[in-house]
Amino acid sequence: MNKTIIVSNRLPLQITLNNNNLTINPSVGGLATGMKSVHEGGESLWIGWSGLKEEDLDDELSEKVDSAIAKENCAAVSLTGSDLDNFYYGFSNNTLWPLFHYFMEYTTFEGKHWESYKEVNRKFADTVLQHTNDGDTIWVHDYQLLLLPELIKKERPNTSIGFFLHIPFPSYEVFRTLPWREALLNGMLGADLLGFHTYDYERHFLSSVRRILRLDINFNEISHQGRTLRVDSFPMGIDYHKFCNAAIAHNKQSPEQKSDLQKRLDAHLQSAPDAKMILSIDRLDYTKGIPNRLRAFEYFLDKYPEFKEKVRFILLAVPSRSNVPQYQLLKKETDELVGRINGKFATVNWTPIWYFYRSMPFENLIDLYTSCEVALITPIRDGMNLVAKEYVATRVNNDGILVLSEMAGAAKEMNEALLINPNNFEQIADTLKRALEMPEEEQVERNSFLQQRLERYSVEKWAKEFMKALQATKQLHNVIVSKKITPEIEKRLYDSYKNARKRLILLDYDGTLVNFTNKPKDAKPDPALYRLLDSLKNQENTDLVIISGRDKETFTEWFGDKGYTLIVEHGVWLKSGNKAWYALEKLKKDWMKNLKPVIETFVDRTPGTFIEEKNFSLAWHFRKADPELAQNRATELKTVLTSLISNHELSVLEGNKVIEIKSSNVNKGRAASRLLAEKDYDFIFAIGDDWTDEYMFKELPEEAYTVKVGLKKTSARYYVESTENVRELLKGFLNEAGD
Ligand code: UDP
Repeated sequence: MNKTIIVSNRLPLQITLNNNNLTINPSVGGLATGMKSVHEGGESLWIGWSGLKEEDLDDELSEKVDSAIAKENCAAVSLTGSDLDNFYYGFSNNTLWPLFHYFMEYTTFEGKHWESYKEVNRKFADTVLQHTNDGDTIWVHDYQLLLLPELIKKERPNTSIGFFLHIPFPSYEVFRTLPWREALLNGMLGADLLGFHTYDYERHFLSSVRRILRLDINFNEISHQGRTLRVDSFPMGIDYHKFCNAAIAHNKQSPEQKSDLQKRLDAHLQSAPDAKMILSIDRLDYTKGIPNRLRAFEYFLDKYPEFKEKVRFILLAVPSRSNVPQYQLLKKETDELVGRINGKFATVNWTPIWYFYRSMPFENLIDLYTSCEVALITPIRDGMNLVAKEYVATRVNNDGILVLSEMAGAAKEMNEALLINPNNFEQIADTLKRALEMPEEEQVERNSFLQQRLERYSVEKWAKEFMKALQATKQLHNVIVSKKITPEIEKRLYDSYKNARKRLILLDYDGTLVNFTNKPKDAKPDPALYRLLDSLKNQENTDLVIISGRDKETFTEWFGDKGYTLIVEHGVWLKSGNKAWYALEKLKKDWMKNLKPVIETFVDRTPGTFIEEKNFSLAWHFRKADPELAQNRATELKTVLTSLISNHELSVLEGNKVIEIKSSNVNKGRAASRLLAEKDYDFIFAIGDDWTDEYMFKELPEEAYTVKVGLKKTSARYYVESTENVRELLKGFLNEAGD
């Protein structure tokens, strides 16, 4: 039976070691809850670091740990102290974390950290590979393991790999500053499905893939190394019922059941009829915008002094990465700000800020969530922010108001919250006032929308949707109807070739016999290609035809004296053996002078593009241009041209990084049909890479061997991956020579 394997940096277990005594408790975090449905039953395994360093475990202990965690359906990756320093604190938390959150000034680029990141990803891959077989499904989590999908895919191509990034993916302008950007993207592209919290992160990722790796992207699908992979957004939810039920139980507590914290909170609320509390909860991380929030609160009290002695700000900052200097500085800054603001406003009865620097048990979080009328959550940048969702889920009477930074991923789904820019103190102060004074009906209306969404798209649903989408990627390959040429198909092809009386070989040129270059003129035939084509031409009973969109001048220069049959400009001209060019189609060209200036305006506005003027067509090439700009301009140009040509017999075709306008009556299919009508071929072979070749594939009889170069949607029966494969395939015909 196939397995499901979950991989994350840390296992979902709290493991403690006390005098060789081991205690293991399951984690209660959001991810562990969401994964419950995935990590159920015997056919699933969770792989990650146990939290214990290799140096702290001797062989005996290590075995004990392994067998204890095996009982929880987990397997550990062993990490040393140096791995943690370089891979975890170094590359993951000092390079990727700040950069992906747009804190470029905190980002370090250390070769040593990168080497360790690669090594540790390799360690994870080794453990995964030990436990994985063909047909298994693997779900890799987060920024510590960006290289892992590729490492697994290389060794186990027949597994389904999903990857989910729990933090933002930054804009291309930021991502491209990474010295190891290609390797990281390639690592991620080993997955079959890549998930992000929001469409914006997905968009940024696709943009980096397009610009850095220059891969073809079709909506949210990327063609990469013969595979099609999908990118999508899956906003992570919470365990809605856990928070909602806890709040219901909390609200029913008798006075004796209340926690000390709750009693203190109640005392404040009873201190004045309009006393209210504002809550903020986060890890003490520079991405969370805690100093900004404190300054904004200070500004609020200055601007609206009527709230003094009425409003209390409760700041729960959970210690995080406290051995990293930036986090220590942040702690100092937060302590000082709280001290200064409290000093500035405090009265004998009132301190404006209650500051807790610790983590709190779940029950106390519920005390806070349910007691505070306003939650003020203002990260500078945050992948999602679950606290915002948890706050709303506990508001079982539908009152309370969430003030949320628009820089948090959660803001994309929580439109009914009051959204603010965390750098705009004026706006935060005014919004706080509005939240504190908001009529109850409005609060209820806003929260009921938010709650419905949170209940529907819970963390379980999130995990299930991701798994469903991952299973669906298995169908992607079936969409492409052509088959890869296998040794068996090759044998059939060569046998038919050998036994044929009269053979026709139709070869597209660019992207088929030669690779694309930045300038069309540079893609000249090389000596090896000439030798191959000459040998094919000299085969008995074989008509060798190069059928291309190129102009006749270029082909005359390259192949004029070669004696091959040439068809150019998609079928306008034919040159048979050493005879002169012959026009297959009688075409007008007066339209060209009208349309060329239109295309020129696109050349002017799109650096790196140019016009190729052929005898009967105009082509706008954009291979060298910025891929995103060019794609937008290509769409624009097609729209403009289509509206201009409506009264002429012209068509606009998009080829491989080119848009071409030519007569509607001309295409490679028509030209190929003419050849078929002339002779009685019993072996037909056609190969090509782009859209214009599809006409040829469609026109040829069913028994013809039609081959597409590259894994794209096609009417061809078969495909090969590259121009190198094309040449190898053609060489195979020569081995049949002499018959
Ligand atoms: N949390 C906790 N103990 C605390 C404070 C917070 O367990 O003392 C939890 C909180 O309930 C939430 C998580 O920590 O589920 C924080 O998640 P979020 O996405 O808001 O921020 P992250 O820390 O992942 O950046």
